[in-house]
Amino acid sequence: MALLIKKVFDFHTHSYYSDGVLSPTKLLDYAKSNGVQTLALTDHDTISGLEEARNYAKKIKINFINGVEISATWRNRTIHIVGLDIDDTNQQLQQGLKQHQVLREERAIKIARGLAGAGVENPYEKTLKLVKKSMITRTHFAQMLINEGVCKDMKSVFKRFMVRKLPGGVNVQWSNLTEVIAWIKSSGGIAVLAHPYRYNITHTKLKQLISDFKEAGGSAIEIITAFYQQQEVQMMIEIANEFDLQGSIGSDYHGWENSFVKMGYLKPLSGVKQVLSDRL
Ligand code: AMP
Ligand code: MN
Ligand code: MN
Ligand code: MN
Repeated sequence: MALLIKKVFDFHTHSYYSDGVLSPTKLLDYAKSNGVQTLALTDHDTISGLEEARNYAKKIKINFINGVEISATWRNRTIHIVGLDIDDTNQQLQQGLKQHQVLREERAIKIARGLAGAGVENPYEKTLKLVKKSMITRTHFAQMLINEGVCKDMKSVFKRFMVRKLPGGVNVQWSNLTEVIAWIKSSGGIAVLAHPYRYNITHTKLKQLISDFKEAGGSAIEIITAFYQQQEVQMMIEIANEFDLQGSIGSDYHGWENSFVKMGYLKPLSGVKQVLSDRL
C-alpha cells in the first residue's frame, strides 16, 4: 500500500521587509512550529528579505523558495503577481522592483498629504515610525490610523480612507502585467496570479485577466488561499485547466494580531497540477 505523506507548504507570505509584522527569521520559526516544510517569502515589490530567510532556513532545515509579490497594472486596475523561484541577483528584476519602490515612496507622500487634508496630524512622521525596514505601505498608514483611534480595524480603514477618491486613496501606475511577468521570467522564476477571488471583477473580466496572464507567460493561479468559498475554488480549478495553468497554495500570512490567517492549515489542491511540485 502506498503511504500518503502530507506535504505542508505555503507559497505566499510576508515579512517586515514589506507589510508583514515578523522578521524573516521569526516568520520561518513560526512556519516551522506550525509544521510547514516548504516556505516562500513573497514580500511586496522587494526581495530584500530573501537573504536572511534563505540563510536561516538552512539553519533550521526548512525548504525555502525565493519569492516576491509584485504589484502590476492591468486595464487600470492593480493586481498582484507572485514570482516564485526567482534569482534575486537578476538585474532586470532588481531594476523593475527599484522602480516600484520609487513609485511607493511617491505614493506615500501623496497619501500623507491626503490624510493631513482630512485632519490627521503629521501622518507621514507617525507612519514612518511603524516602518521596520525601508518600505512604507498602505498597511502602515492603516495601522497608524488604528493606533490614533481614527478607525477600529484594517478593514474599516481601507474602506474609509485608503482607496479611490478617499483621503488616502492614490492611483498608481505600476508596470503592466506583461512587463512584470517578463521580470519574473528573466530571473528564471515562475509567475503566479495572486488571490484571484479578491479583485472584485465580473466573471468575464476575470477570464480576460487570466487569458492575458497566460498570454504574457504566466504559469499558475493561486487557488487555495486563506479565505475562499468551495464554489470559487471549483470554478478556479476549471479555469486553470481551461487555460492550461497550474495551481498554487498561499496563506498571504502577514503576522497581524487579530487575524484569522495562520500558517500550516491550507487544504491541498486536487484537480489541477501543483506549481513547483518537484520542490516539495
Ligand atoms: P500596498 O501594496 O501598499 O498598496 O498595500 C496593499 C496591502 O494592503 C495588501 O497587500 C494587504 O496586505 C492590505 N490590504 C488591502 N486591502 C485591504 C483590506 N480591505 N483590509 C485589510 N488589508 C488590506
Ligand atoms: Mn500586504
Ligand atoms: Mn496581494
Ligand atoms: Mn500578499
